Amino acid sequence: MNSHTTDVCVAGGGPAGLCLALCLARAGHQVTVLEQSPRFDRTFRGESMSPDGVWLLDQLGVLDTIVERGALKIERLEIAEGGKVVMHSEFSEWDYAQRYPMEIPQPTLLSVLAESSAEHSGFDLRTGAKVTELIDEDGTVAGVRYRGADGEPHEVRAALVVGSDGRYSKIRDLSGLEFEKTMLDRDVVWLRVPRPEGWERGIYRIRLSGSRHGLFIPTYPDDIRVGFNIPKGGLKELRAGGIEALHARMDEIAPELTPTLRQHVTSWSGTTVLDIFTVLTPRWSRPGLVLIGDAAHTLTPILGQGVNHALIDGHTLAGLLDPALDATGARRAELVQTAVLRFQAERESRIRISRQLQLRQERAFTFEHTLAVAARSTLYRVLGSSRFLQKKMLATAYFQLQPELAT
Ligand SMILES: Cc1cc2nc3c(=O)[nH]c(=O)nc-3n(C[C@H](O)[C@H](O)[C@H](O)COP(=O)(O)OP(=O)(O)OC[C@H]3O[C@@H](n4cnc5c(N)ncnc54)[C@H](O)[C@@H]3O)c2cc1C
Repeated sequence: MNSHTTDVCVAGGGPAGLCLALCLARAGHQVTVLEQSPRFDRTFRGESMSPDGVWLLDQLGVLDTIVERGALKIERLEIAEGGKVVMHSEFSEWDYAQRYPMEIPQPTLLSVLAESSAEHSGFDLRTGAKVTELIDEDGTVAGVRYRGADGEPHEVRAALVVGSDGRYSKIRDLSGLEFEKTMLDRDVVWLRVPRPEGWERGIYRIRLSGSRHGLFIPTYPDDIRVGFNIPKGGLKELRAGGIEALHARMDEIAPELTPTLRQHVTSWSGTTVLDIFTVLTPRWSRPGLVLIGDAAHTLTPILGQGVNHALIDGHTLAGLLDPALDATGARRAELVQTAVLRFQAERESRIRISRQLQLRQERAFTFEHTLAVAARSTLYRVLGSSRFLQKKMLATAYFQLQPELAT
């Protein structure tokens, strides 16, 4: 079996893994990324980047290239209930260097991170490489085995294995680390249509109608990603009504979009379902191994938090590992272990705040009772009319990382 040794082996080349790899390679360390997909051509995945995520990409020096290749700036968030706007927030009003969320296609994000990493000699990306096993030596993870693009088994040995392989993490399963998966009451059906005439660009639109809701997200170059909720596991029932059942659902929440939908969504094949759940992992690490990104903490899609936290995880862990990796022998293993424990301690409370905010929103979106729906409308109106309250809510979701500008 082909074997090689590196400082850090990253299992999963998504936003978390590639951000970590870029930061480590830049700091002069050896990092091998194993990514099962042959290419970065994903669709319907984490395109909404929060202002903090945009800020971090700028700090990493990759934002300009991403923007040159194509991204959309979001100017406003708008919530409408029963056809009337009950809350809107203008991102121009906030005093941060990067105050606007951005829609960045994941293929662009991942390619730019990988290309920037490849400028450093320590970076080694192996695509088509699926991790299948952990190498466990006396209770310490010493590396991984993977099936390479050539179909053959290979192994990588490293001072640290990082599981950044997403919401269905194989590394998490193999590690024996305990985790708790919570299924939410809804799934989301996603589809993509061209932006309809009369809809301004750059607006996040949320439409509520009783317990039903739709998310309308501008998507590069000039489309709209539409997500609408269905009861958990309810796709079969909806599909039984044919594509007309989907059109009827959209008529309820965004009637002005229905001509576009009828023209462009003529079968279920253009849709995809996101199974909504969260994962909490009490311990993110064991000796020789740490989980980051969705593998450590899967969030829901509310307010585009997943990619943002994945990037911050990668960046934070790299900063803590950098001095530890410079040590040698037993001291190195000790310092690496301290770094991963500090990593969880630093990041866990931030993730908890995002998760709580998301779960509150999830509950509000699925209110059915008339009184609860009326209370929700009132709440959004109060939020819409109070700059202070808006700032508080948006700071939790969007501005945890970057400093507020002095005015
Ligand atoms: C439909 C959908 C829409 C979403 N929309 C948004 C959004 O708009 N904004 C937002 O912030 N978040 C969104 N998310 C969540 C977001 O995509 C994730 O939070 C984010 O991508 C997590 O990054 P990650 O690097 O931890 O994991 P991932 O992006 O999942 O990356 C994991 C990588 O590991 C690879 N991998 C898996 N198993 C193995 C293996 N055994 N060996 C090697 N490689 C492996 C995968 O191929 C993948 O490339 C969405 C998610 C989905 C599914």
